[in-house]
Amino acid sequence: MNTISPTRFADRRFAWLGEPLPDVAISFEFFPAKTPAAEARLWQSVEKLQALRPRYVSVTCGAGGNPAEGTQALVAALRERGLAAVPHLTCASSPRRDIEQIAVRYRASGFRHIVALRGDRPKDGSHDEPDRYRFASELVAALRRIGAFEISVAAYPEPHPEAPTAAADLDNLKRKVDAGASRAITQYCFDTDAILRFRDRMRAAGIDVPLAVGILPVHDFGQVRRFSERCGAGVPGWLCALFEDLEDDQAQAALVAACVAAEQARRLIVEGIPQLHFYTLNRAELTIAACRMLGLRAQAPRTAAAAA
Ligand SMILES: Cc1cc2nc3c(=O)[nH]c(=O)nc-3n(C[C@H](O)[C@H](O)[C@H](O)COP(=O)(O)OP(=O)(O)OC[C@H]3O[C@@H](n4cnc5c(N)ncnc54)[C@H](O)[C@@H]3O)c2cc1C
Repeated sequence: MNTISPTRFADRRFAWLGEPLPDVAISFEFFPAKTPAAEARLWQSVEKLQALRPRYVSVTCGAGGNPAEGTQALVAALRERGLAAVPHLTCASSPRRDIEQIAVRYRASGFRHIVALRGDRPKDGSHDEPDRYRFASELVAALRRIGAFEISVAAYPEPHPEAPTAAADLDNLKRKVDAGASRAITQYCFDTDAILRFRDRMRAAGIDVPLAVGILPVHDFGQVRRFSERCGAGVPGWLCALFEDLEDDQAQAALVAACVAAEQARRLIVEGIPQLHFYTLNRAELTIAACRMLGLRAQAPRTAAAAA
């Protein structure tokens, strides 16, 4: 029988599932629900995930139209529940003036942390108009002028699909940090070695802000494949093999998915990345299971509301 001893725990190659890990900061990402049924599922998930005491929860914003539609209402409601809620803000689809007004409103309502993004470029080419922020680095600089926000930005262990090279993409991250970003949150990446290499390249380039790694528990493998093609994330052969023939066996697929997410999280922690950002897709079960395997358990809710 294996026993856990402090000596073995100190040796990073022998980290055991379920053993509590110190100083792990978790955060969860949600998106505004579009139907009453989705809304109900979202709040059930929020209730369960809140018990894990996330450091903050973030809310995505739409790529087109009003980039704050749905986001503002959801961050306000999450904050009402006592969660430190953080809005995402994208800038590609709207005039600068509109983006600035949204940021001023967030600031006036007490939100102090924003995830600043360019967002996907609108198909009508309007992102090229002179009144737009062209890149997230420009949005970060504008937010800095508007107020003393804590600003998180996107980072890409597998380079962003529009980046000419990995080095150019890293230069872009540095531009965002130099403009005032204080945290990088990665796109999900199933290749943990690639994430660790990215962390090392970041540090070698003098980018020393905290790195939170985005973890995507696989709720629907087919959907993950399709989405990964669009956003430039790789789907490794080992992952395909794990989910092969499980299309009609959701229970087994969920068990596999929880193990994959927990294993990645565990490895990141023991390799010195203690900030994990779960892309929950508004679902709780897999994230809760992965956290449980990290030794993170539900706790009584905090009483005081706290804005991020
Ligand atoms: C943590 C996280 C959260 C996200 N949340 C949302 C969300 O809520 N809503 C949503 O719509 N999308 C979201 N996205 C997706 C994101 O908006 C897209 O990946 C988008 O295509 C790029 O956004 P960005 O902020 O990384 O852009 P940028 O940092 O501006 O980079 C975009 C591309 O332009 C290149 N680039 C940047 N500056 C220059 C320059 N000066 N010259 C030449 N090339 C340059 C970069 O290398 C990169 O290829 C999220 C992504 C992540 C990782």
